[in-house]
Amino acid sequence: MPQVFNWQLGREMSYPYEGSFPQRQFAFVFNLNRCIGCQTCTMACKSTWTFSKGQEFMWWNNVETKPYGGYPQFWDVKILKQLHEAQQEPGRWDAKTQDAQHPYGTYTGKTIFEAPVQQAGPEPQRVLGYLPTDEEWRFPNIYEDTAVGKPGAPLTFDPAGTQLPEHKTWFFYLARLCNHCTYPGCLAACPRQAIYKRPEDGIVLIDQQRCRGYRKCVEACPYKKAMYRPTTRISEKCIGCYPRVEGKDPETGGRPMETRCMAACIGQIRLQGLVKMNPDGAWTEDRYNPLYYLVKVAKVALPLYPQFGTAPNGFYMPPRWVPRDYLKQMFGPGVEEAIAAYLTPDRELLAVLQLFRKTNLIIARYALKEGPKVYETEIHGKPFTLYNDTIIGYGEDGQELVRTQVEEPFHVRPAQHQNSI
Ligand code: SF4
Ligand code: SF4
Repeated sequence: MPQVFNWQLGREMSYPYEGSFPQRQFAFVFNLNRCIGCQTCTMACKSTWTFSKGQEFMWWNNVETKPYGGYPQFWDVKILKQLHEAQQEPGRWDAKTQDAQHPYGTYTGKTIFEAPVQQAGPEPQRVLGYLPTDEEWRFPNIYEDTAVGKPGAPLTFDPAGTQLPEHKTWFFYLARLCNHCTYPGCLAACPRQAIYKRPEDGIVLIDQQRCRGYRKCVEACPYKKAMYRPTTRISEKCIGCYPRVEGKDPETGGRPMETRCMAACIGQIRLQGLVKMNPDGAWTEDRYNPLYYLVKVAKVALPLYPQFGTAPNGFYMPPRWVPRDYLKQMFGPGVEEAIAAYLTPDRELLAVLQLFRKTNLIIARYALKEGPKVYETEIHGKPFTLYNDTIIGYGEDGQELVRTQVEEPFHVRPAQHQNSI
């Protein structure tokens, strides 16, 4: 099998195809500290793309309450268990090799492409995975708002349950969509070669003409984001709202625009864009692209289950109240560093965080204009200084798209406002 370099694992890995990378890659960062589980993103996607017959249980975007929730139910527990059982030694992260090329060190375990797979019919299974049952697809928000209590004592909550740094009684909302992976499991498994990555933006699509509904993609996507439509007997998945990303929305005058789920986000947790890629599949250094900055420079945003090996392009700022071991299993070894950076942000990080949801157009680059010091304090024993800096976001054509400040502007209504009481 060909060997490809996976920067998230810090090593080469087996993949059924030679590496082939787009010029720019669709990517997103979600700040899980801010998600309120309102499901506006879920409904924005549903009402745009999956409102027809046969798509009733198809939620390209979903928000599940962790740790118990999941769509389809227990998707991550099941694939983690399969991976665990498929190898002698549990996978580990070796921190010794950590550097700019290997930001999380090296993962020693096997990926879904490397774990020994069973013979399924005449062909060996190319990718480790499973087909969820109809029942597991049926309840997209099962266990919504259900918290974890005392270990071993069902429905008992610790009275000191919500003291930082790690709550004893906890849950958090995990918003998900297709990660438009660099090494997609769905694409690797398709026997019809009906799945492809677009060279212009890395969005992963299923060719509806070629697909014959074998559901190999549904089985192989570890995130369970390829779905089967019984009325047409073919599979469908998130299309990254590609007409918007192409700038085809009449509102934008040809400028690339973020997807529907991003634009609708009430909690302002989402920032989506395009990152430049080298011919070898690594991200091109692009210091002032906000996604590059958050993932590679500030290192506050981490991939979802990088150990699966698909190199997902969705990155998450981990929720700071959640037990660290749980987060490390989900986001890899960068969790402590990411939470520390988020808790006492430097002035650049604080400014970049203001860009989330200030515009629906895709920001390609930002610039910072320093402002005055506003106040000083200590956060968890570390000094913190707030500056009222201004951040400016530019499109890929260099046009200014947004300008905002760290301090929220304070508006005083005139005394005779017509709605005053
Ligand atoms: S998340 Fe799943 S469906 Fe999306 S590209 Fe990755 S493997 Fe394919
Ligand atoms: S719209 Fe935003 S805040 Fe609401 S559930 Fe979706 S991601 Fe979370």
